[in-house]
Amino acid sequence: GKKLGQTILKGHKNYDLMLNLQLGIRYSVGKPGSMRELRAADFDPREKFWTRFPPEGSKITPPHHSIEFRWKDYCPMVFRHLRKLFNVDLADYMLAICGNDALRELSSPGKSGSAFYLTQDDLFIIKTVKKSEVKVLIRMLPNYYRHVRRYKNSLVTKFYGVHCVKPIGGPKVRFIVMGNLFCSKYHIHRRFDLKGSSHGRTTDKVEEEIDEMTTLKDLDLNYVFRLQKSWYLELLEQIKRDCEFLEAVGIMDYSLLLGLHFHYDVSASWTGLSPCSASPSKCSNLKCWYLMCQHNFLFRKPLIRLGLNMPARAEHTARSESDALLASGTQSDKIHDVILYFGIIDILQDYDVTKKLEHAYKSLKVDSNSISAVDPKLYSRRFQDFIRRIFMEDD
Ligand code: ATP
Ligand code: CA
Ligand code: CA
Repeated sequence: GKKLGQTILKGHKNYDLMLNLQLGIRYSVGKPGSMRELRAADFDPREKFWTRFPPEGSKITPPHHSIEFRWKDYCPMVFRHLRKLFNVDLADYMLAICGNDALRELSSPGKSGSAFYLTQDDLFIIKTVKKSEVKVLIRMLPNYYRHVRRYKNSLVTKFYGVHCVKPIGGPKVRFIVMGNLFCSKYHIHRRFDLKGSSHGRTTDKVEEEIDEMTTLKDLDLNYVFRLQKSWYLELLEQIKRDCEFLEAVGIMDYSLLLGLHFHYDVSASWTGLSPCSASPSKCSNLKCWYLMCQHNFLFRKPLIRLGLNMPARAEHTARSESDALLASGTQSDKIHDVILYFGIIDILQDYDVTKKLEHAYKSLKVDSNSISAVDPKLYSRRFQDFIRRIFMEDD
């Protein structure tokens, strides 16, 4: 299939950064030192360590071909535990990020100026972040850890590590390693970044330019999603818990990132979910697919996790002039069997001075409830209201 992003080869402006990052991660993850129980002190914001990487190598670092840099690990023991909790195999992790395959750089998908790198196997995303975002993450880390440990189905971003690279004579680059929500054997046909706000929430692309790589937004959404009852209830419950967590740690401006796979080919076996052959015209056997899902639900634990591989039906809707979605009735030709991927991303923005100013400024021009920048409590409520409008119980 088509791969997102541009592979970073020698000569690329971020080639050295990539090398440093790979060296650093290999060092951090491979560092001997046994796993032990977490202590309160492991969460201390001062729990961070600089390591020097001279090109000629040192007692603890290997020789390398880029200029000297320093490498910082934030709360390494906590992230060790998080990787374990998220079932990340260390060998896989290292191989994905530090293996011979270079990383791919995504052409800045967000407005914030962060850079995004994807591992060749699509498992991990590395995002450069601001100092303030690292602060927010480290500050929320005890709550975050407690939350994701308690709720295995939590939809909030899975963080695997936070680091900083400082090349000699160059600026610090801070970044986080997280899970790629769209790592799947199913092709993602549509992707939406949804906040529950409406002001400015459309893609800037014209219709003909929109494809599988386009991140669409709230006002572009022309589907509602029908989920089997138990999943529907579980989803609402989990979104509520996740929003309460985000509210409690003072976060706003996050999104539900949603990927849609239209399931056209259902010659899948009954034992597993086999990938779509991507022939968008053949839609003959929807019943079979649907039965298969039911089968899984009825006779064994579903193969599906909340937000991952989730079978659903997407109903085409019309949009009104405002942000309201209007269900178009139940014409079966407008309902597609889909597989959903979703999670809550971009959870490192607190309601700081800039966001308060943005709110004040934009409220002068438009309805203040349509602006993305609102306080965490309001944000959470609006976000959940939105979720309740776009997901429905299937009958
Ligand atoms: P802004 O603050 O302007 O919204 P940002 O630079 O903070 O943008 P994000 O909102 O974190 O960026 O992400 C931008 C886009 O990158 C998302 O809309 C999504 O398409 C993609 N993306 C981010 N995180 C993930 C993830 N964990 N898995 C898959 N795709 C992701
Ligand atoms: Ca965002
Ligand atoms: Ca952001």
